[in-house]
Amino acid sequence: MSELIQPIRGMNDILPDATPRWQQLESVTRAVLTAYGYREMRVPIVEKTELFARSIGEVTDIVEKEMYSFEDRNGEHLTLRPEATAGMVRAGLSNGLLHNQVQRLWCLGPMFRHERPQKGRYRQFHQVDVEAYGLAGPDIDAELNIMLARLWKALGVEALELQINTLGTPASRKEYRKLLLEYFRRHLDALDADSRRRLETNPLRILDSKVPETRAVVEGAPNLLEHLDAESAAHFAGFKKFLDDAGIRYRVNPRLVRGLDYYTRTVFEWVTTRLGAQDAVCSGGRYDGLVEHLGGKPTPAIGFAMGMERLVALMEDVQVPLPDSSPHAYLVRVGAEAERAGFKLAEQLRSALPGLRLLTDCSGGDFGKQLKRADKSGARVALVLGDNEARNQQVGFKPLRNTTEQVNISWEQAAARLAAWLE
Ligand code: ATP
Ligand code: MG
Repeated sequence: MSELIQPIRGMNDILPDATPRWQQLESVTRAVLTAYGYREMRVPIVEKTELFARSIGEVTDIVEKEMYSFEDRNGEHLTLRPEATAGMVRAGLSNGLLHNQVQRLWCLGPMFRHERPQKGRYRQFHQVDVEAYGLAGPDIDAELNIMLARLWKALGVEALELQINTLGTPASRKEYRKLLLEYFRRHLDALDADSRRRLETNPLRILDSKVPETRAVVEGAPNLLEHLDAESAAHFAGFKKFLDDAGIRYRVNPRLVRGLDYYTRTVFEWVTTRLGAQDAVCSGGRYDGLVEHLGGKPTPAIGFAMGMERLVALMEDVQVPLPDSSPHAYLVRVGAEAERAGFKLAEQLRSALPGLRLLTDCSGGDFGKQLKRADKSGARVALVLGDNEARNQQVGFKPLRNTTEQVNISWEQAAARLAAWLE
């Protein structure tokens, strides 16, 4: 035997026992997004490396150390997408969707980051990414979160906390940045190495550090909310007012930041206490500067990404009920004529009963063996076909989950009988 090839660390197979949960998450999400006017877009999972370097920023964990980058056969520098927004904006620009238009778009799929794998943190993971373009006011900021609150409810995962903050404009942030720099320089010795390195290039990112020693320093740092420009303060007040009107609870967290200049005003995150350290299931914010930064005309934009692995884990944790996916009926065929006739009967039933889950035993063996498999499959009914029944267009109808006796019925009656039984 040759040696087994191992899977890649941090990249998971989603097995058939797990996919019903994923499908549930996807179909509920799709329905809620559609109800708010969002349209799906499908974009490549590979883009030019430069796109991510420019949009995510050179001085970020993702670009510095987490990207799966490679040269293709033409020597082009390409990267497996670590997040979706860059590709969505690129596609919007490539296809003329953004200039002077309002677009509500979403996409879903795998993202790739070379992080340290642990519970809730993988190297291939999946996001639903949602973006609204061409809308500058705080109403869309609020509506995205109103929509998310509805989504959590529809998914059955309501114990999430919304944290919000505002970053102001790049101009107002400049002043704050100076104050922050001065403060951190005074506490240089207490910062971790990464944060020290980031100090001159991206000090805002330090506010977001997860290193305990650095967090202690951050506690005493100047507060961005006290250095906002008037328009951003009004935008934030408007955002909060709409959330209040909608009865959505939130906590203002002045440490919630994004380090890049094209981020403006609103940032938010939905967190849970049920998943340990990997507590963010959805993060979003406004990036009014990004479209222009990627070569388009100035276009207001706001969006969020939710982590599907973490949502699936949460749904498992709170035991959201799953629709039954075991077969309704299991067809047993014994004998050469029954084997052929069985497919005919099965197709008749499938045509007559859309949504019917009917499994045909193709493993062979006598009635006893096949009925054992029928039982194991979880089916509620076995349809039992021998050569005699096949010749007479009859079939044995055998309930598997109670003591009702097997009866013979005609093929013509079979659909109605099944439908009645399965109600
Ligand atoms: P975190 O703080 O957990 O590292 P992040 O700030 O890097 O998250 P974003 O880049 O904003 O997260 O991605 C949005 C969402 O995608 C996160 O809230 C999280 O649910 C999910 N996510 C991010 N990275 C991973 C990963 N490596 N594995 C699984 N899910 C992830
Ligand atoms: Mg991260």
